[in-house]
Amino acid sequence: MAVKQQDLLRDMQNCFNHLKVEENKTETVSERHRNESINIGCTEFPDYSEEVRSVLKAGWLEKTPPNSGVIYQRRWVQLDSEYLRYFQSPKEVYSKRMISLRCVDKVVGVGDLKFELHSQNRTFLFRADKTEEINDWVCCLEKALSDNRNSIESRNLFFKRGSVDFSFEGYLELMSPRIKVYTIISRDKLYLFKNREEHFQGVGVTDIDMRMARVKDGGKRSFTLTTPYRTFSFLAESESEKQRWCDSLNECVSRSLSCDGVCESLWRVVSNQQCADCSALMPEWASINLCVLLCEKCAGVHRSLGQNVSKVRSLKLDERVWTDDLIRVFLQLGNAKANTFWGANIPPSESLCVNANDEHRLQHITAKYVHGKYRKYHTLYGQQEALDSALCKAVQSSDLLEILTLLHCGADIKCHTGIPDFPTPLSLAKRSGQSAQAELLTQNLNTAESFESVLKDVSIQSRRGYLFKPASSSRPITEHKNKADFARRWSCLEGGVFSYYKNDHSKKCGGMKTSDIICLSVNSPGKHVYEHTFELYTEEGRGYLFGADDANTVRNWSKAISMAMLPTALFDICGPCDRLGRLRCVEGSHGIGWFCLSGFKLHVLLENTVQTIDLRKLLSLSHSDSDGSMVLVWRGGTLHVLTDRRPHFVGWQTCIQQKSGAGDQPLSHQQLTELDVPVTIDRCLDHVTRYGLLSPGIYRKNGVNSHTTKLLERFHNDARSVSWSESDFSVDDVANTLKRFLREVKDGVLNGQDNAKSWLKAADLEDKTERIYYYQNLLSNLPIVNRATLKALTHHLLSVQHLSNENQMTKRNLGIVFGPTLFQTDGTDVKEPRVVEELIQNYCSIFNVSESELLRQLNLTTAALNKHKSERPSSKTTSSIICAVDLERIEEGSEVLVQVGANMTAVELVSEVLDHKGVKPANEDFWSCYEILEKEEMDRMLHYHEKVSPVYFSPGLQCHLLVKKNHYISNILKYLEMMEENVCKSGTLRVCEVKSERSKNYCSRYCELSGTTFRMHKELQNSPCEREWPVKELKVYNGYRSKLHSPTPWGITLAHDKQQWYLCCDNEDEFIEWTATFFSIQYDGDIWPSPLVMQSHNS
Ligand SMILES: [Zn+2]
Repeated sequence: MAVKQQDLLRDMQNCFNHLKVEENKTETVSERHRNESINIGCTEFPDYSEEVRSVLKAGWLEKTPPNSGVIYQRRWVQLDSEYLRYFQSPKEVYSKRMISLRCVDKVVGVGDLKFELHSQNRTFLFRADKTEEINDWVCCLEKALSDNRNSIESRNLFFKRGSVDFSFEGYLELMSPRIKVYTIISRDKLYLFKNREEHFQGVGVTDIDMRMARVKDGGKRSFTLTTPYRTFSFLAESESEKQRWCDSLNECVSRSLSCDGVCESLWRVVSNQQCADCSALMPEWASINLCVLLCEKCAGVHRSLGQNVSKVRSLKLDERVWTDDLIRVFLQLGNAKANTFWGANIPPSESLCVNANDEHRLQHITAKYVHGKYRKYHTLYGQQEALDSALCKAVQSSDLLEILTLLHCGADIKCHTGIPDFPTPLSLAKRSGQSAQAELLTQNLNTAESFESVLKDVSIQSRRGYLFKPASSSRPITEHKNKADFARRWSCLEGGVFSYYKNDHSKKCGGMKTSDIICLSVNSPGKHVYEHTFELYTEEGRGYLFGADDANTVRNWSKAISMAMLPTALFDICGPCDRLGRLRCVEGSHGIGWFCLSGFKLHVLLENTVQTIDLRKLLSLSHSDSDGSMVLVWRGGTLHVLTDRRPHFVGWQTCIQQKSGAGDQPLSHQQLTELDVPVTIDRCLDHVTRYGLLSPGIYRKNGVNSHTTKLLERFHNDARSVSWSESDFSVDDVANTLKRFLREVKDGVLNGQDNAKSWLKAADLEDKTERIYYYQNLLSNLPIVNRATLKALTHHLLSVQHLSNENQMTKRNLGIVFGPTLFQTDGTDVKEPRVVEELIQNYCSIFNVSESELLRQLNLTTAALNKHKSERPSSKTTSSIICAVDLERIEEGSEVLVQVGANMTAVELVSEVLDHKGVKPANEDFWSCYEILEKEEMDRMLHYHEKVSPVYFSPGLQCHLLVKKNHYISNILKYLEMMEENVCKSGTLRVCEVKSERSKNYCSRYCELSGTTFRMHKELQNSPCEREWPVKELKVYNGYRSKLHSPTPWGITLAHDKQQWYLCCDNEDEFIEWTATFFSIQYDGDIWPSPLVMQSHNS
């Protein structure tokens, strides 16, 4: 490689005219720094071009030698709108010098093929071989200077006005070459200076783009900064200093990648501003395995190729895909470079323009990516072993294009590297620390399948044939239609458009883009006069109904349409669906989720995560009366589906409600617990276990009939919302409810009379072993829910029998009661009780439970009983809901599910959560419940009296509840104690109004907090009041959005309606005083519960 580079240099030398540069010795200030600038060569051969910087002019020049030498030095000089840089060669990424144009007073041609740049304390002299070159340089420089001069007001000669927001600066030692450098982190770059004076004089060494960098702790005061072109090693003055640098640099990396949207980051590479296929401007889509940015139209075609060819993701909608590494891949490759492979040989006649029609677009893109017609084949093409070994080599280098080329020219992504510890190219890339390479491999891992399956996918997504459609009328499509209402229509799904025609030759009657379809519903047979129908709903709120004579036709059409409309992430997961489409919801950063309903399973795609919810196992399902929005709570989380006035929404409400379990259906359609037992049965068993096991004649006594009817009705309506206190229903009422439910439920526990008869037959067998064998066999033939129910019930009866000394319910008695109940008969057959007795007797062998496990469970039951004997049950409020609350930090595993009633207060929640996790608060610990916003950047302490559920369900916010130690409260209480009655505060704060993601204009404001009002004055106390708010209407958050780049970490964010104001305190004391004053006014001085209240909750 070195040889190649030298050749290149020599070639260039021959091509270019020589110029020279001179740093004159007139100045005195920096005499001692006038040795040659620091040489930061690239260790990797880059073809990082000027794409990222907009270069005005570049070329070879000669500069005067340092240290009064006589030999001119040839330098590659580059001018952009802000700096003049010079490099060892055009291939270098890091300059030897960068001179800020802001420090340059004038540029002068001095004759003898020379020109000079004059700054306040220096003169730089350059030399060229031709007069035209000199004139051109002088002309370009003068223009750049005059453009710059208009904006020069800043006293900083190096940085542009407005960009002077250094997050960190200081001296570091660069390891190779070993030299001290003055270093500044500003925005998304790290700038190196020879020393601090040079920074003020406007002359730097180079800048390092942090968007492509990774920071690594090297131990013992050292750390490294790895870019694709070079690794910089630094030594800090102390270990703690190093830590601060690492933190600041890491923050800079993440900030630089996140402060812009993905679009802005990727578009900074010029060729990424055009679609890789048709050159449309500002492409917002990408194929993340083919590494090209695409416009919407081309992305649509790519998607139709199937995700095993092209994985299409949005730059705007699929934010989570865009990891730092993936962004690096696209910055380093870019459309231009990727197209040197994909589109190396496109004949002009086959090129694609922005306005190409759909057909041409599909042809071109298929030829380009599926058939590889235009790609530049690798020289090793066809030699498998050589390709594979080239891949193993490439993944350890920084050459992404080589990897892309190899992968798409037949190299085996899973080939054996020959290294036992790192057997695959991916593991090898990771071992070599090449994270972008690893990312590129990962994105291509599952796509290199055969092309056959691809073609199958494409054919699935297009379809034609006859369907029946009711004539357009104003009647809603959900209304029942007669056969006469339907007319035959030739229908066609192609290239992302669904259209229908009078017949296959006539003109189009109507149609829609599949991207406009927001909902597809496959109706259950018999909804309309056509046995088999489906409905389509469009973005603009229209509904369409289509029918067919057989189920197969509807299935094929719905499959094709769903493939065309669904995001790829849902393809694999959803099989035949009843209903699918997109809905607005609070969760997820875009407010849109994709939903697929298939039987009782609801698959939800939010951002890039698919969650599958068994609707029967929801913890709660509530509809808001006021606006019709739905809240689904299940063990894995919460989902708020926002209401929508368009007609598809009602259908969703009905479907979700129906599939979430119905009381009048067989067992497997009921609302279920996690263990697949119907909620009704579970609640009854639980209640009898708690309060009835010691009750004489339990299950024999009937309770009050009207009570049973009432309770059963409530279970029928919505089992999971039913709760009652011991005083509402006697234990016999509940026991009887269970029996009634088992007796009446459709098909019974034994799944229909035919199956029930088989159980009776088995009971007739004489040989016990054989009987048990038959029972086991029958059990395994039961549906899951029935099996789980029978097991739970038998286990319960066993615990009743276990305590028969107290309750007198022996096995025989239980058999008499439960025989007819289980078999749903009048109880004349003597074999029925026998079956029940035998189930109890042989519980362990029939249900395959170990004896010791059974014993453990029975002991647990007894222990629970003893506990409840001594303790009255707390009456949970009726409308309680399960909330997920995190303890100490928000992460997996720290979550506690808590039943939160409408009136539960923060202090109750804290004690419940601590109790749940077995945390015993120490005396000096203060625990509070916090509302967490903005991914933990901002939190708000809930007042101990504050009700929890309105906070948890506040719409429109991604809010978490977190219980953690309160670090400030003791200081806050101390401060308020000191202030006594007179709680008020005023002073000057830096204030930032949070208008958009990027507003970070801090202004000094005189702030005043007294009485019940917070006031902000423009300048001084006496100046007119600019704004004021009643303190009780403000929400006061601790912290700030990190995007605001606060000058200090002591921030308070005030929220009022949708406005946010950010107050920046200078130090912790200030922060505590302001916070304390806000609290004191908001809560009338009652901030923390008295020790007595705490004790009662913690006991
Ligand atoms: Zn395009």
